[in-house]
Amino acid sequence: MTAAPRSISIFGATGSIGESTFDLVMRAGGPAAFHTVALTGARNVARLAEMARALRAEVAVTADPTCLPALREALAGSGVEAAAGEAALVEAADRPADWVMSAIVGFAGLAPGLAALRHGRTLALANKESLVTAGPLLMETAAAHGARILPVDSEHSAVFQALAGEEIAAVERIIITASGGAFRDWPLERLAQASVAEASTHPNWAMGQRITIDSASMFNKALEVIETREYFNVAPELIEVLVHPESLVHALVGFRDGALMAHLGAPDMRHAIGYALNWPDRAHLPVARLDLAQIGRLSFAAPDPARYPALTLAREVMAIRGLAGAAFNAAKEAALDAFIAGQLSFPGMAGVVEDVLARMSAQTGLGIATISLDNLRQADREARRLAEAVIASARI
Ligand code: NAD
Ligand code: MG
Repeated sequence: MTAAPRSISIFGATGSIGESTFDLVMRAGGPAAFHTVALTGARNVARLAEMARALRAEVAVTADPTCLPALREALAGSGVEAAAGEAALVEAADRPADWVMSAIVGFAGLAPGLAALRHGRTLALANKESLVTAGPLLMETAAAHGARILPVDSEHSAVFQALAGEEIAAVERIIITASGGAFRDWPLERLAQASVAEASTHPNWAMGQRITIDSASMFNKALEVIETREYFNVAPELIEVLVHPESLVHALVGFRDGALMAHLGAPDMRHAIGYALNWPDRAHLPVARLDLAQIGRLSFAAPDPARYPALTLAREVMAIRGLAGAAFNAAKEAALDAFIAGQLSFPGMAGVVEDVLARMSAQTGLGIATISLDNLRQADREARRLAEAVIASARI
């Protein structure tokens, strides 16, 4: 089956998710199958230009204005427009496209994603930070403009697939799995000595360094629990995390009749990306097929709260909502930067985030009802400032 030609944009095209999206688009026929509106990246303008040429995109945007001359040069003679900066990213999201991949990393992904939703597009959402910081704003914007959000986190795509044809009211629990990360089997007291290199290895998934470290600390899973709460609009008590070292079952949905629907697949993000790209159809995908007889057994365990304090912090964030997600995400980013720079120990990251949440709750009250891009930006800046102060004052 060939997909009908349609128009697409890829935000964060040069990243890990962006490259996998590009790979699937090229395999499906590239410019013969899709009209590409916009591709965006940051400093890797050579790669961005190469992708834009291959897909004959209308426009390529670099987030960094100092990279614009290099992008222009790399695109010379191609007919692809070059643009740069935050406003250009939003302008690119304003251009008509049927399907938009949101794969910018961090808070910067929110504004282009919101712009795409305001135009009623289908948004394939990998940028989990947008749901964590601005879940209600994103979901309300989608509903108000008849836009659709398709999840592109492996766990959330798995839940979405297990829910096909089901009523959310019949859901009793949603279980997302976690590998347990690099330190799953380390003695707790050794964690304070964990190095950046040790935290940067993942047992199953090949991903960027930051998300790999976030897997070791389960800050990534904490973000995903909040993402589940916001995307599926379920009560936080229904969401569980299960340690599953093999990373083959991505999520399970439990229904009120006791049935559990599990989603299994190879740990390859092209599953979730391909599902969103072809939805509501299923297309052939170039991912490994599981040989369960050869795999033999799958194992599961409850996460130890002492090893993964980020999971407890996620519960706090869900109880407060409002600006708590923005504060949590920003403090986590700052703590991760400090860990990578050797200024903070591995367990120190959770300590910093906890401290920032407590300070911001006491100062301003994070649980406000109405969030906007403006107050989210402010909360993001304030949480980073406080985190840096906490890190500088106490070497944790
Ligand atoms: P990445 O770092 O590999 O790529 C990020 C992309 O965003 C790049 O194109 C980069 O140029 C661009 N970018 C970086 N900073 C920017 C800024 N300030 N403004 C605009 N663009 C900017 O990240 P990734 O691993 O591809 O992850 C992208 C998103 O998908 C993240 O939100 C991540 O949590 C989520 N995600 C990733 C995976 C995975 O396997 N890598 C899995 C699930 C979810
Ligand atoms: Mg995930």
